[in-house]
Amino acid sequence: MDVVDKQTRSRMMAGIGSKDTKPELAVRRYLHRLGFRFRLHVSKLPGKPDLVLSKYRAVIFVQGCFWHRHANCRYATTPSSNVTKWAEKFGANMARDARNTAALRDAGWRVFLIWECGLRRKPVEKALEWLPGALLNRRRYFVNWPLATRGKT
Ligand code: ZN
Repeated sequence: MDVVDKQTRSRMMAGIGSKDTKPELAVRRYLHRLGFRFRLHVSKLPGKPDLVLSKYRAVIFVQGCFWHRHANCRYATTPSSNVTKWAEKFGANMARDARNTAALRDAGWRVFLIWECGLRRKPVEKALEWLPGALLNRRRYFVNWPLATRGKT
């Protein structure tokens, strides 16, 4: 069932492939203020990660819950028309994300997936206070945040 209205949907559609989205900017500003340095949208890496922190061998993707299908997330809705088409599209997105994550990890990158719904909590500094420590902890190879429980995000 659709939980978003038409207007919200078209805003989400407009966000396809767009760089410098607001949630991504919030993550960048937060890390930069703390002294982390990174490159942006590095196209030679699989999936063109939003942030690349070479010093920490870490990449960060700020992911839209709808397009990238955040598991159990209330924002990962499925439109009620053209169901097959959407299913194909979502399937392709998820397969591509999985491939990119695997390729990055094979190449020794630590992969951080930050879902947009987690950044709805304000202030962002509070929502992301786990992130600096996780970046510094070299044993964190893969981070998927937040884990959603439908209806509770
Ligand atoms: Zn989500």
